[in-house]
Amino acid sequence: MQKERVVIIGSGPAGLSAAIYTARALLNPVVLTGVQLGGQISLTSEVENYPGLFNPEATPTGPDMVELMRRQAEHFGARLVYEEVTEVDFRHGPPFTVKTHGQTFSADAVIVTAGASPKHLEVPGETEYVGRGVSYCGTCDGFFFRGKDVAVVGGGDSALEESIFLTKFADKVTIVHRRDELRAGPTLQKRAFANEKIGFVWDSVIDAIEGNGVVQNVKLRNLKTGAAGDMTVDGVFIFIGHYPNSKFLVDELAMDEHGYVITDEFMRTNVAGVYAAGEIQDPHYRQIATSVGQGVAAAMQLERWLAAKE
Ligand code: NAP
Repeated sequence: MQKERVVIIGSGPAGLSAAIYTARALLNPVVLTGVQLGGQISLTSEVENYPGLFNPEATPTGPDMVELMRRQAEHFGARLVYEEVTEVDFRHGPPFTVKTHGQTFSADAVIVTAGASPKHLEVPGETEYVGRGVSYCGTCDGFFFRGKDVAVVGGGDSALEESIFLTKFADKVTIVHRRDELRAGPTLQKRAFANEKIGFVWDSVIDAIEGNGVVQNVKLRNLKTGAAGDMTVDGVFIFIGHYPNSKFLVDELAMDEHGYVITDEFMRTNVAGVYAAGEIQDPHYRQIATSVGQGVAAAMQLERWLAAKE
C-alpha cells in the first residue's frame, strides 16, 4: 500500500490542472493517468477556443496542450503513474483506497477526473468494423482515408469540427444527421456549409454498417419518410456524444441517472475529501477551459479541506 496525501484519478485538462495546483500547494500529488494521457484532448486536432493560446499561424493541437500541461505539472512536483484505476473504496475513508492493476494507493484526499468516452451507435457492423472503417476519432484515423468517401454521424460541434478536419484527407464527407437542423454552434455550421467536400443527409440514421473485411456501405433510413437506401462509403466516423467513465465509482459516489458524478459548486462529491472535476461530473459544458476551471476549483477546495483538518 503506497501512502499519499493526494491522488488524482485521470489526466485530462481537469486532472492535470488539479495536479498543477495541488503540486504548487506542496501536496505532492500522484496522478493515475488512465489509458490515455491527456484524455480526450489528446485525440483532438486544432484547439481554437482555449483563451490565451490562439495563434492563427500555428494553432495548438490537443496533444500540444497535453504536453504543456504535463510538463507544468511535473515541473511543480506532480508524479504521473501511467496506470488505470480499477477499484476504489471511498466509503471507509479517509484514508481512501485507490487500486490500479498493479498498485494500491491510500490517499488522504482524492480528485476524480476520469472523463467521458464516445457513445456508440449500437447498430449491426459497428463493433465488427472498428479499426476497419469505423472510427470515433478523425484526428487519429483521418490519414487512412486519403482520397476516400466517408460518412460522419451526428450534428453537434464534434461532428462538424471532425468533418472539416476529415476534408483534409477524404474526397467527400457526408454528414448523416437525425434532424434537419444542426446542434453545432454557428461558426462551425458556417464553415461546414461553405466546405465543398461536405454534404448532408438530413433526418436520417444509419441502421447498419456493412462491408467485406473493411467498411463498404451503410444502410440509411429517413426518419420522416421511412425511405431506406444504401450509401457507398469507405469509412464511418461517429460523433454522437459521450458517457461518463464512472463504472468503477458505482456504490462509492452519488451519481445522476446517466452516471455523472454529482458535485456541488465547490466540486465536492457526497464523500468529504473526495472531489470530482471535468466531464465525469459535467454533461453541460465539456470544454477544455471549463474542465481546467473545475480541476483548479477542486484542487483549491481540497487544499482548504486538508488544511482545516490539520
Ligand atoms: P452533442 O452536442 O451532444 O451532439 C451529439 C449529436 O449527435 C447531436 O447532433 C445528436 O442529435 C446526435 N445524436 C445523439 N445520439 C444519436 C444517435 N443515437 N443516433 C444519431 N445521432 C445521434 O455532442 P458533441 O458534438 O460531442 O459535443 C459535446 C459538447 O462538447 C458540446 O457541449 C459541444 O459544444 C462541445 N464541443 C465543443 C467544440 C468546440 O467548441 N470547438 C468541439 C467539440 C465539442 P440531436 O441534435 O438530434 O440531439
